[in-house]
Amino acid sequence: MYIELKNINKSFGDFKASDNVSFGIEKGKLIGLLGPSGSGKTTILRMLAGLEKQDSGDIFINGKNVNKLASSERGIGFVFQSYALFPFKTVYDNIAYGLKVQKKDKAYIKQRVTELLELVGLPDTANRYPDQLSGGQRQRIALARALAPQPELLLLDEPFAAIDAKVRKELRTWLRETIDKIGITSIFVTHDQDEAIEVADEIVITNKGRVEQVGNPVEIYLEPKTPFVAQFIGQSAIIEDFSRLKGFESDKSDLSAVIRPEFIEINKFEDSGYHQFESAMEDGIVEDISFRGSNFEVHTKINGITVTGRYPLNAPRLKKGDKVKVLIKKLYTINNDSTEILVNKALDDSELYYI
Ligand code: ATP
Repeated sequence: MYIELKNINKSFGDFKASDNVSFGIEKGKLIGLLGPSGSGKTTILRMLAGLEKQDSGDIFINGKNVNKLASSERGIGFVFQSYALFPFKTVYDNIAYGLKVQKKDKAYIKQRVTELLELVGLPDTANRYPDQLSGGQRQRIALARALAPQPELLLLDEPFAAIDAKVRKELRTWLRETIDKIGITSIFVTHDQDEAIEVADEIVITNKGRVEQVGNPVEIYLEPKTPFVAQFIGQSAIIEDFSRLKGFESDKSDLSAVIRPEFIEINKFEDSGYHQFESAMEDGIVEDISFRGSNFEVHTKINGITVTGRYPLNAPRLKKGDKVKVLIKKLYTINNDSTEILVNKALDDSELYYI
């Protein structure tokens, strides 16, 4: 592993911001640290950068224990949440800053700044000041500045948090491509699951100072290992007492589970007669329906439980109060500390391949 955190603990007063955090990162990977606000993401980043000292545990970069190394000796580039460019320096001087600190010669600095401006797609902005740039452009320059001294590791703390949704989406794709081009090991903090899922090679999920799960986005999405991850990822909802539902009957009662819209198939009552899993379907009544662009979102009451599913645009229209047949394909059960995938008994595994 190129980066390793081993049994890291960190408290602020009585508050445990990192609780025995351990994970490793392979060289060249882009890692998303994903978790709710206050779950300890930034604290992990700051300890890696040497801006905060852990109470116990070890941090290794490229096999070397960096516990005692100052921030400036760790070979790390940092891009912050808010634009941390120097407001009274030009773009050129902002990017050149780290190189001047390293006492590089003028010709090298000029060549490196020009190369970085090309890399971030803003070759004509060298003489501008930060307030003459858009938010997205400022973050591109912040990235160029972080990369200038050729760090071994790049840390990004919610780099696009202050940017509006559309530009943010473009910047994500751009960040992924840029990082691929230079092949630098990178970690970015986000509380936006779409951002992590789209951009990261691996996701580390944090909750209350602990690491809940580490995995690639598909694993995290399809195979959550803890009830927290099952609930945090996807458009998840909790249903209580699911053993009342067809296909999930069990002797135990009061069991709760996580369900997502894609686990639910909704059919208009009259159209469901020929369905291969008719016997496994619940009768339901449409409580609410809203248009979501590529589909409808339908809230349906089945057996006293409201579930939310998606309904295709090209199927016969539904309205509030309509009778429907609902097939629940799978659930994630919630036990104390673990979660299991529970498949509707009527379906075989092949049917679940696409969910
Ligand atoms: P966010 O997404 O809101 O930035 P986060 O997951 O990055 O959250 P951290 O910033 O790591 O969370 O903070 C974790 C917890 O530690 C928070 O409850 C925060 O208030 C607390 N904390 C962080 N830094 C300090 C500090 N210097 N002094 C006291 N408490 C701190």
